[in-house]
Amino acid sequence: ERQKRIRNFSIIAHIDHGKSTLADRILQQTHSVADRDMQAQLLDSMDLERERGITIKLNAIELTYKAKDGEDYIFHLIDTPGHVDFTYEVSRSLAACEGALLVVDAAQGIEAQTLANVYLALDNDLEILPVINKIDLPAADPERVQFEIEDIIGIDASEAVHASAKSGIGIEEILEQIVEKVPEPQGDVDAPLKALIFDSAYDSYRGVVLNIRVMEGVIRPGERMKLMSNGKEFEVVEVGIFSPSPIQRDFLMAGDVGYVTANIKTIQDTRVGDTITLANNPTEEALPGYRKLNPMVYAGLYPVDSSDYNDLRESLERLQLNDAALQFEPETSQALGFGYRTGFLGLLHMDVIQERLEREFGLDLIMTAPSVIYEVVKTDGETIIVDNPSMMPDNTEVDKILEPYVKATIMVPNDYVGAVMDLCERKRGNFLTMDYLDEYRVNVVYEMPMAEIIFDFFDKLKSNTKGYASLEYEVIGYKQSNLVKLDILLNGEIIDAFSTIVHRDFAFNRGKELASKLKEIIPRQMFEIPVQATIGNKVIARTTIKAYRKDVTAKLYGGDVSRRKKLLEKQKEGKKRMKSVGSVEIPQEAFMAVLSMD
Ligand code: GDP
Ligand code: MG
Repeated sequence: ERQKRIRNFSIIAHIDHGKSTLADRILQQTHSVADRDMQAQLLDSMDLERERGITIKLNAIELTYKAKDGEDYIFHLIDTPGHVDFTYEVSRSLAACEGALLVVDAAQGIEAQTLANVYLALDNDLEILPVINKIDLPAADPERVQFEIEDIIGIDASEAVHASAKSGIGIEEILEQIVEKVPEPQGDVDAPLKALIFDSAYDSYRGVVLNIRVMEGVIRPGERMKLMSNGKEFEVVEVGIFSPSPIQRDFLMAGDVGYVTANIKTIQDTRVGDTITLANNPTEEALPGYRKLNPMVYAGLYPVDSSDYNDLRESLERLQLNDAALQFEPETSQALGFGYRTGFLGLLHMDVIQERLEREFGLDLIMTAPSVIYEVVKTDGETIIVDNPSMMPDNTEVDKILEPYVKATIMVPNDYVGAVMDLCERKRGNFLTMDYLDEYRVNVVYEMPMAEIIFDFFDKLKSNTKGYASLEYEVIGYKQSNLVKLDILLNGEIIDAFSTIVHRDFAFNRGKELASKLKEIIPRQMFEIPVQATIGNKVIARTTIKAYRKDVTAKLYGGDVSRRKKLLEKQKEGKKRMKSVGSVEIPQEAFMAVLSMD
C-alpha cells in the first residue's frame, strides 16, 4: 500500500548549521534535480523566483528514493518557509510531518534556536533524527555535540549521523534512517476528507494556492471542498505536488503533502491552520488549529510615495495570508500622511516584513521606530491601550503607565557572563537565575522591560559577546514604570513619527543623543533647521542642522574619482527612502535613530 512508502519530514536547525545545504544534497542524491540544474541552495533560489512572481511558493517537495531494501519510497521534504526561522512558521510545517532531521553544527553545538525547534518538534510528536553536520571542519567535535544532544535535549543520539552536507558525507545514511525511523503516515483513506492547510500563496491566475497535508480521506479535482473555520465552499480545480516544479495529480490521499487550487480569489477566506473537508461528506471535527499569536511590537508603515497607499494595503493583505501574526490598521501621521500601524511578533519579524514588502512588492517604505504596547491609566480612571507613542495622552491626564516585561533567557559561553550581566543591568533588568548548561555554556535569565529589548539590546548583546550569545524572550506581564513621552521638533513643529516613550531616568540623555543624531542623519537643506527634544513643554536639548552647501563632493580633493563616485551613488541610494515632512527631507534612517543609542 502506498502509505507504507511515504515519509514526511522537515529539517530543523539553528541558523547557519547547514539546513539548506543538506536539503540541496538530499535533492541531489535522490536525483530530483538533474545534476546540471543543481545549484547551491536550490530551495532558497526557488524562493527567490517566487519572490519575483514567476513561480508560486514552494515549500514541500516530493522526492523518490530507492532504498537499500529495493523499494521506492516517496519522501515529502517540507521546508520551513524560506525567510527566517520563525518558530511559528516552523511549527506549522512540523504539523504536516512525522519526522524531523535535527541538524547540529559539529563545531558550534546546540544553540538557542536548536532547542526551540526541538521543543516544537516534540510538541508535534515527531520522531527526531539528529544529524551532526560539518564534521569536515577542523574545530568539529562530534562526540561533544552528541553528548550535548543527549544531555541537554534528552534524546538518544548514539545513532546520530556524522555528516558533512558540504562534502556530501553521510547523506545516504541519512536517507536510510528516514526510511527506517520516520514513521509512515497513519490516517484512514476511506474516512471523510480531513486536510491541514499549512501554508498558502497567491497566484494571479489560479488564485490562492493551498499547501496541504491530507490527514484522512482523499481529495480530487471537481469535488466541492469546504473550509471548516468559515464554512465557505469551493470547487477543487487542481491538486498536485511539487517535484520541485508543480506536477498535477489525479488525487491526494491520506499521508500526502501537496497543493490544491480552487479558484479562491479572496485571500481573507483561507487561513493557515484551517482544516479542509468535503461539502457533501464532511468530517466531524476540525484538526486542532494553530495557536493564535498576538503582535508584541508595533510600528507605523508609510509609503514614500503616497499614491502607493492602496498597494501597501493589498501587499499587507497578501502577506497576512500566510502570516496570521501580522496585523495592521490604517493610521494617519501629521508628518508622514496615510499609512498603517502594523503589529509584529518581534523585531526580526518586522525586518522581514519590511524587506518582503520592498523586494516582492516593489514598495518604497518608511517605517517608524517600533514601540511596545503600553497600558495607560488616566487620571479620570479610564485605562487605555497605547501602541503608538504619539497617541500617549498629555502628562497631566496620566495617572500611571504600565509597560510589558519579558523574561529574557540568554545563552552564552561562560567567558561572557559578566558582559551580559552588565548589559542587562544597564537595561533595567532584574536578575532572576543563572544555570550552567555544561562546562562551557551558561543560561542567564533576567526580567526586563520589553521596550529595552526592542531598543538595541540584541545588537549590544551580540557585540558584547562576539556574537556568541543567543536570546529568547517571552512576555510575562505588565508593570508600572516611570515613563515619559519624548518629542522631537523640527523647525519648531512636533514630528509625531519621532515621538518615543522612555524611562524618565534615560529621557534627558536620549533626548540629547537623538537630537545630535538627527543632526547627523538629516541632510542639510536650503535653510537652517532647528532640532529640539522636549518632554511636555520642557525643551531638554536643541541643535541646528546648518544650511546646505551646494556640491556634496566639493570638499573632496579633486583626483579621487572612485571615491567621488561612491559618494554620489550613496547619496542617490539614500534618496529613494526619503520622505518630505513639511519642507524637510527626512531619510528612513532618521526614524530608526532612536534604536541605536548608547
Ligand atoms: P542554514 O542557515 O541552516 O540553511 O545553513 P546553510 O545551509 O545556509 O549553511 C550555512 C553555511 O555553512 C554555508 O556557508 C554553508 O556552505 C556552510 N556549510 C553547510 N554545511 C557544511 C558542512 O558540512 N561543512 C562545512 N564546512 N560548511 C558547511
Ligand atoms: Mg538556509
